[in-house]
Amino acid sequence: MAGSKILVLGGGFGGVQAAISARSSLNAFHEVTIIDRNRVPHLCGMNPLMIVGERETNKTGRSLGRLANRGINFVEANIDLIDTSNQQVVTSAGTFDYDYLVIALGAAYDWDAVPGARDAYSFYDFDYARHLRRRLSRLKRGKIVLAAAKPPYKCPPAPLETAMIINWWARRKGIRKDIDISVYIPEPGPLGVAGKDASMRIRNALDQRGIELVSSAGVTEVSRNGFEVSFADGSSTTADIVATIPVHKMPDIVAASGVANGKPWVPVSRATLETSIANVFAIGDVNVVPSGEFAIPKAGVFAAGQGTKVGEVISSRINETDEPEPYDGVGFCYLAYSGGRSATVGGEFLAEGGPQTIVTEPMVSGMKHKERFERDWRNFRI
Ligand SMILES: Cc1cc2nc3c(=O)[nH]c(=O)nc-3n(C[C@H](O)[C@H](O)[C@H](O)COP(=O)(O)OP(=O)(O)OC[C@H]3O[C@@H](n4cnc5c(N)ncnc54)[C@H](O)[C@@H]3O)c2cc1C
Repeated sequence: MAGSKILVLGGGFGGVQAAISARSSLNAFHEVTIIDRNRVPHLCGMNPLMIVGERETNKTGRSLGRLANRGINFVEANIDLIDTSNQQVVTSAGTFDYDYLVIALGAAYDWDAVPGARDAYSFYDFDYARHLRRRLSRLKRGKIVLAAAKPPYKCPPAPLETAMIINWWARRKGIRKDIDISVYIPEPGPLGVAGKDASMRIRNALDQRGIELVSSAGVTEVSRNGFEVSFADGSSTTADIVATIPVHKMPDIVAASGVANGKPWVPVSRATLETSIANVFAIGDVNVVPSGEFAIPKAGVFAAGQGTKVGEVISSRINETDEPEPYDGVGFCYLAYSGGRSATVGGEFLAEGGPQTIVTEPMVSGMKHKERFERDWRNFRI
């Protein structure tokens, strides 16, 4: 009897955890392979501190080649086609067959959906974040606008966190009185997904720090020179630095594969993360898991939790053991207010009766946990 082939597309938070989880319960007879075009993915969660010089640019990555130590094959290749009818994936390094497929390709950015965004600043991508870091290091005065286009976007706290970190950095540098910071978001309020309490707490925190928050105002255009920016509520403003959160979309090859059934994100079973095609799973940013009136946020902690669950589901099917407990939607993110203190936000997003969430005060212990999270990620413990 031949062993099963488990193919994981994408070596981000979700894909790596799915591979590690499946591998840990399967004998060596079965093959676990990850394909990603990047050998060294970066931890986007470090970008808000990286842009103000609080994280080193050469310490934000991890090499997927190291997964060989755990019995997981890594193939560095571009994935071009997902063919579920023939159980094959076509890549720049050849065609791969599978018995179980895990699609963990994340969200793609549509930089052209907002005219001018491609040439503006951003902290949502590693290269853009490095560019913004260089710009901020020269800044002495002026106005900074952080502007999200439309939901859903990764890590909903990230624009708010970034505004607070820039506030802290400018104070430390002694230039805060010469800097204006504004955050424009498309939602009616910040962190709606985490509940009213969290939303109010963040509003107050921004207000106390003199950070302007404008809601229901997604960015619609950035001028060619990058200094003027327009919003969905009809307003516009000028700024010295405009940093956008780009429009997110499902990667084109996932849309072309048909697994999303024409929906904007891949619908999956809430319990097993399986798509409408048997033994094809979609986890992390690429899927949608409804949670109350929202959906589970696009964040690494949820992608990783889903990866662990899918690994358990696949190994239980191969080993013919009981199917594991359904996915629980539990996850907590960090929301740093400075280089030294971080709040925690999250909870149980699939709780009966609706999401049960909390947000804590920013604490030194919160930052210690965040630093441990970063170390664990680099060492493949997350
Ligand atoms: C500024 C910022 C701050 C954040 N902060 C946090 C935080 O504090 N906590 C948190 O939990 N999350 C945070 N996130 C969100 C987190 O980074 C994402 O939600 C997470 O990475 C999603 O994991 P994933 O596995 O679904 O996709 P990804 O991690 O995006 O992985 C997808 C992988 O697929 C690969 N890929 C895509 N297409 C192809 C192709 N055609 N061929 C080959 N390879 C391909 C990519 O190279 C990538 O490695 C933050 C994000 C940003 C931008």
